[in-house]
Amino acid sequence: MAGEREGMGEVARRANGGQAHPSAPDRARRRQLRDEYKRAEREARAASLPMSREQLEALVEFVDALVISDGCDHTLRHTRSWVDGQGGLEWGAVAGGLAEFGGYCDCEVVMNCDPVDVFG
Ligand SMILES: [Zn+2]
Repeated sequence: MAGEREGMGEVARRANGGQAHPSAPDRARRRQLRDEYKRAEREARAASLPMSREQLEALVEFVDALVISDGCDHTLRHTRSWVDGQGGLEWGAVAGGLAEFGGYCDCEVVMNCDPVDVFG
């Protein structure tokens, strides 16, 4: 049976003239469009988070350590304590931006708001 399937595959390859599949450029184009769309979407969401990549890296590192030591109580208390300690960051805007990425509590901020996911 296995030999039969191999034989049919060979026929298909020959029928294709050994050329690349005709739709390959279309697939590449679709992939490119999808990547551009995802990048634009990510940039739009990143714009909703009013902090720099460096700040987000520091925030996630801070919150991660506290979630490990103190756990998550399903609020943004550790996130809030970092934001309040920064000065110049508006809590409501930061919380709204984090929510765009699924960061509704401290452990979700650590899991969902990785700077690589937010800023690419
Ligand atoms: Zn949590």
